[in-house]
Formats: sequence, structure tokens, C-alpha cells
Amino acid sequence: MPKSYKLNSRSDMKKLGKDIEDTIIKKTRETVLHDKYDVECPHCGKSFKARSGRNTCPHCNNIVELTLNINF
Ligand SMILES: [Zn+2]
Repeated sequence: MPKSYKLNSRSDMKKLGKDIEDTIIKKTRETVLHDKYDVECPHCGKSFKARSGRNTCPHCNNIVELTLNINF
């Protein structure tokens, strides 16, 4: 959604900076959460690609929970 900012307004410029920051954080979160990560299965010790959340190990079919703590 397009937004307009007044370039001569201090509060608008502050808002713009904040909005850019928010966008970057949001995009980074999305990227992080949708990426796959190499994890080692705690049940069988083999590694596989997992996403954030609940994964099923392809080697032993156990549920592996991948929790990503993202703090900015
Ligand atoms: Zn496993």
C-alpha cells in the first residue's frame, strides 16, 4: 500500500524511518521462517532439511520441532 510522507516534516521522516525498519524486519522474518535449515534429528542423529515449526524426520519419521527465536 502506497504511503506518502512529507519530506519537510520531522515526524513524517521519523515515521518513514520506522516504516522502512518494520518492512526490513518483516521481510527478514518471512525469509527466516520460510527457509529450510539443516538440522540433526534428536531421535536418530541424521541430518535433514527442516523448516520452522513441526517437521517429520525423513529417516525415522519422528516429529522434530524447530523453534526459531527471532528477536530484533
Ligand atoms: Zn530421525
